[in-house]
Amino acid sequence: MIKERIDFLKEALNKYSYNYYVLDNPLISDFEYDNLYKELEALEQNNPEYISPDSPTQRVGGISSSFEEHKHKYRLYSLDNTYNAEELRKWYERVQKECTGKVELVCELKIDGLAIALTYKNGYFETGVTRGDGITGENITQNLKTVKAVPLKLFEDADIEVRGEIYMPKSSFEKLNEENIENGEKVFANPRNAAAGSLRQIDSSITAKRDLSMFTYTAIIERAGEKPQTHWDSIQYIKKLGFKTNPHIRLVDDIEGAIQFCKDWETKRFDLDYATDGVVIKVNRLDYQNELGFTSRAPKWATAFKFPPEEISTELKDIELGVGKTGAVTPVAVLEPVNLAGSTVSRASLHNFDEIKRLDVRIGDRVLIKKAAEIIPKVIKVIDSEQHYSLPEYTPPCECPICHSALTTREGEVNLYCSNEQCPSILKAKLEYWVSKEAMDMDFIGPSVIEQLFNLGLVKNPLDFYKLSPEDFLKLDLVKEKSANNMYTSIQESKHKPVSRFITALSIRHVGKETAELLVNELSSLDEIKNASVETLANIEGIGEKIAQSIYYYFHNEENLKMLEGFASIGFNFENNIQNKTTELAGKTFVLTGTLTSMTRDEAGEKIKQKGGKTSSSVSKNTSFVIAGANPGSKLDKAEKLGVIILNEEEFLNMLGEN
Ligand SMILES: [Zn+2]
Repeated sequence: MIKERIDFLKEALNKYSYNYYVLDNPLISDFEYDNLYKELEALEQNNPEYISPDSPTQRVGGISSSFEEHKHKYRLYSLDNTYNAEELRKWYERVQKECTGKVELVCELKIDGLAIALTYKNGYFETGVTRGDGITGENITQNLKTVKAVPLKLFEDADIEVRGEIYMPKSSFEKLNEENIENGEKVFANPRNAAAGSLRQIDSSITAKRDLSMFTYTAIIERAGEKPQTHWDSIQYIKKLGFKTNPHIRLVDDIEGAIQFCKDWETKRFDLDYATDGVVIKVNRLDYQNELGFTSRAPKWATAFKFPPEEISTELKDIELGVGKTGAVTPVAVLEPVNLAGSTVSRASLHNFDEIKRLDVRIGDRVLIKKAAEIIPKVIKVIDSEQHYSLPEYTPPCECPICHSALTTREGEVNLYCSNEQCPSILKAKLEYWVSKEAMDMDFIGPSVIEQLFNLGLVKNPLDFYKLSPEDFLKLDLVKEKSANNMYTSIQESKHKPVSRFITALSIRHVGKETAELLVNELSSLDEIKNASVETLANIEGIGEKIAQSIYYYFHNEENLKMLEGFASIGFNFENNIQNKTTELAGKTFVLTGTLTSMTRDEAGEKIKQKGGKTSSSVSKNTSFVIAGANPGSKLDKAEKLGVIILNEEEFLNMLGEN
C-alpha cells in the first residue's frame, strides 16, 4: 500500500516537474505540488527502504568535500569559429566536397553557459560531468541533480550520453547580483560565471536555490529504442526521452539558409532571457558526419558562428555615488554617450569599490563597456594608455556623499555603508522602494514625486504617505486636480494589498518579496512574525540564520514598532489576506498585451496566479491564452500566427468570474 502510494506520488510529481521545467507548461499550482511533495517526503522518511534515485526528493543534495576528476568516455571536442558569411560559405564548400549528395544543415543557438555531459544507464541518471578540457572533467552529479531540467529518469529505458549547456536566465542573474551587491557579497561577471559558480558549490543546497536550467543538444546513443539517422531526428528523440531542447532550432537546405538564421538572431537574441554568443551549424545527416570526421581538435561537420562582440570603448567622465535603502554606497560610471547594441549608453555599472580597485579605473580613462548578456551595461576594463598613468588613482569616499556622515564597513562585506539611519538618501530610497512594483506597487507616484514630497517635509517615512490629503499633492510642480486625486487614491488603495507586500515594502534587510511570502505562508499574521523567535524564523525553509536575525532585529526596534502601530491604526490589515489559491486556471499560461481598463497588467497577472494559472512575457505554442487590451503589441500578431486563443478584456473578466 505504502509503496504504491510512494510510486504514485513519485510519478505524478515527476510528470508535473517535467511539464513545468522542460515544457514550460505547468499542469498544477505550486501549492498542490508542494502538498504532494510533502506527503511523499513524509512517507519516505518513515519508509526509507522505498526511496529510489528518481524520487524528486533526491534532488536536494548534501555536502561534497570536493569534485572528483572524471575521464570522459567520449571526448568533448571544441568547435572552430567563424565570424562572417564568407567564412561560412568556405566551410560549406569544404563540407560539400566530401559528401555525395545535398548537405542539409541544422542551426542552433549557441547558449553561453557551462557545457556538461550527462550519462544515463537503463534510463536512470548516472553521472554529470563538466566539460573540463574535453578529456577530463569534474564530477558534479550531486549538484546537477538539483537542476530540475535534468531528468533523473528517462521516459524510455536507454543507455545514452547527452551534452548540454547549463545556464542561468538573465533575469535571475541580474537579481542574484543585485542581492549580492546589497549583501556585500561578490558579484558575478556574467550569467555564465554565475551558472558555473552555482554548479561548483560544495553545498548542493546552495545550487538548488539558484535558478539554473539546461538545454540539451547532442546525444551519443549506446542502446535505445530508436536509431536516428540525422541530427535533427536525434534532437527530436532526446526531446521524447524527457530532455529540454532549445526551441529556436532550424533545419535549412544550404548555407544561405544558415547565414540568414545567423543574421536574424544577431539582434533577436537580445529579446531572449538567456545569453547566446553565436550559432552552431551542423551537418544534418549522421552518415555524412561520420564521413567528415574530426580534425585534432574539432569536428569538420560543425562550425560555430560568433556574433560580433557587444563592446565599445568610451570616456569615463565621472564616478557618481548613490546611497541605497540599505545605506550601501554604490559607484556608477558616467560615460561619454555611445551607441551600443542599438541603444545609447551614458551610464554603466561599476558594482563596488573593490571592483574599481581591481580594474584600476580612473576618472578620465578610456574604458571598455560591454552589454552582451547584461541588461545594464558594465565597465569591463580600462584601455591601456599613457594617459592612464597621469591620472590620479581613484580613492573611495570616507564620508556619505549625501549627508556627510562617516562610512562604515561590515564584517565579511565589500560595501561601504552610510552610518546615519536618517540619511536623506536612505530615507528616500526606502520610500521609492515602498511604492515600487515589487512592494506596494502604487501607480502615479514615482521618484520625482517622492523627491518633492520629501523636500517639502511632507513625507519622511512610509506612514506619512497615508496622512496626505489630495490638496497636499497640489503643492507639487505641474500637478493638477486629476493627478492629485489619482495619487491620493493610489495610496489609499494600497492599504488593502496582501500582507506579504507590506512586509516586503518595509525594507527589512535581506527580506525581499520571496522571503516575505515564505514568512506569510508559514506564520499567517504579522503579529506571529513579530513575536517569532530567531529559532522559529530560521527553521522556516528558505530562511537562514542571517535572515532570521535581521527579521528579529527589525521587529524588536522601538521605532519600527511605533511605525507598525501607526499602520494598524489607519486601517492596515495584517492578517494573511491572500485568498486561498484555487486551481481553475491550473495548467494554463497567459500572455498579457496592451492596456486593460479595469486593472493593471500586474493585477491581472496576480489574479491569474491566484487561480492557479501562469503568466509569461512571450507568446509561444505553449501559450494557452493571449489577453489583449487596448493598443496591443507585436505579441498579438504572434498569437494570431501561432493560432493561440485571443481574449479581450471582457472575455477575460468572464473567465475570472468577475463580470
Ligand atoms: Zn548618508
